[in-house]
Amino acid sequence: MSQHDQNDEGRRRFLKVAAGGVAAATVLGTLPRMALAQDLPHLSPSDPTASALKYTEDSSKAVGKKDPKDACFNCNFYQGTAGAAWGPCPLFPGKAVSSKGWCVSHAVMI
Ligand code: SF4
Repeated sequence: MSQHDQNDEGRRRFLKVAAGGVAAATVLGTLPRMALAQDLPHLSPSDPTASALKYTEDSSKAVGKKDPKDACFNCNFYQGTAGAAWGPCPLFPGKAVSSKGWCVSHAVMI
């Protein structure tokens, strides 16, 4: 085996290890976030901050909405995945809000 062949073999090994490391880091970095979003406790409308922001789990019963179609799922703050019933909202750290919910801080997506 020539020096050139040995260098190529070394590069191939390095690239395999590097690709494996990137894939593992990506999976490990994503898993906790996915688990966190699913495991968040649901925000209670009786939570003091939720109550102050008039949060409701059912936007059809919300008082003071500008647009009847407004709900958490179409709010700019909502971080839930499409189709999920519950998702994170940065206004309520550590809790999940109902995708069909609403609060006075609803922000329209532009
Ligand atoms: S800020 Fe938006 S996503 Fe968060 S609770 Fe209010 S309406 Fe829902």
